[in-house]
Amino acid sequence: MAAPGLLPGVGRVYEIPAMLGRVSRHHSTSHAFAEVLRLPKRQLTKLVFPLQELERYLLQDSGSDLHLKTFHPSLEDIARAEGFFTATARNRIEYLSSAERLDHAPDLPRPEVCFIGRSNVGKSSLIKALFSLAPEVEVRVSKKPGHTKKMNFFKVGRYFTLVDMPGYGYRAPEDFVDMVETYLKERKNLMRTFLLVDSVVGIQKADNIAIEMCEEFALPYVMVLTKIDKSSKGHLLKQVLQIQKFIDTNTQGCFPQLFPVSAVTYSGIHLLKCFIANITGNLKTNGT
Ligand code: GDP
Repeated sequence: MAAPGLLPGVGRVYEIPAMLGRVSRHHSTSHAFAEVLRLPKRQLTKLVFPLQELERYLLQDSGSDLHLKTFHPSLEDIARAEGFFTATARNRIEYLSSAERLDHAPDLPRPEVCFIGRSNVGKSSLIKALFSLAPEVEVRVSKKPGHTKKMNFFKVGRYFTLVDMPGYGYRAPEDFVDMVETYLKERKNLMRTFLLVDSVVGIQKADNIAIEMCEEFALPYVMVLTKIDKSSKGHLLKQVLQIQKFIDTNTQGCFPQLFPVSAVTYSGIHLLKCFIANITGNLKTNGT
């Protein structure tokens, strides 16, 4: 059992049905999250706080100098964040446009977050999972080699813009560095960059180039560990430990907490949405 204080929110899960009624009326909590809240405690923790499951092993293994959980919102905050990602007549979530160069990018006043990662890291799948409550949104997936990939802009209500950047490494567009570097360096409303790393293989050479870019431009960025359903707990633990240590010792701008996710089981997706709602200034949580 997790130590007291390590499971913020989850300890209050049994208060949720009453709380949910209030949250639903005011924040259009999705039916889907209402279902999540009915899960047995262990399953709920695994789905909503995947790092939590690994935490007691991490603490044993790594001593106390790693910052494991910096963002730990309550379930109530996570339920509220779902509202931002739920498409309604008043909260339109839609694909806006694509651009090959920054000067073709739409001029948008809202805070922006972008997602970058190697081709095949699971970026499109993750963005689809984030938009699962906006099923009309089409996340363009281009698998054709040589097909020019662009930056795709998605409007999330009046709250923020989410940008899907072209994948790097294998099948990267020729002008990838120019396109991405210029965007990362010059986009004024860019609040956070989400750098995706495949949990099966960990940080690869190509990822280091993206990490160096983020560090060089002093960008605040976050590492998201994808496809966690594909790894055994032992393998995942090893990757989480390695990457947490890497973040701790080699980075300045990287958020100290890793976000493990699966686009198949939806593990970690709700927490990531809550983090995005929080860092774009739309949801004040006491989780940071
Ligand atoms: P992208 O090139 O980064 O956009 O990657 P995709 O989202 O197209 O995913 C690449 C491959 O990984 C596809 O075959 C996906 O079905 C698979 N994939 C993506 N995310 C996950 C995940 O969370 N779990 C599993 N098991 N497979 C995934």
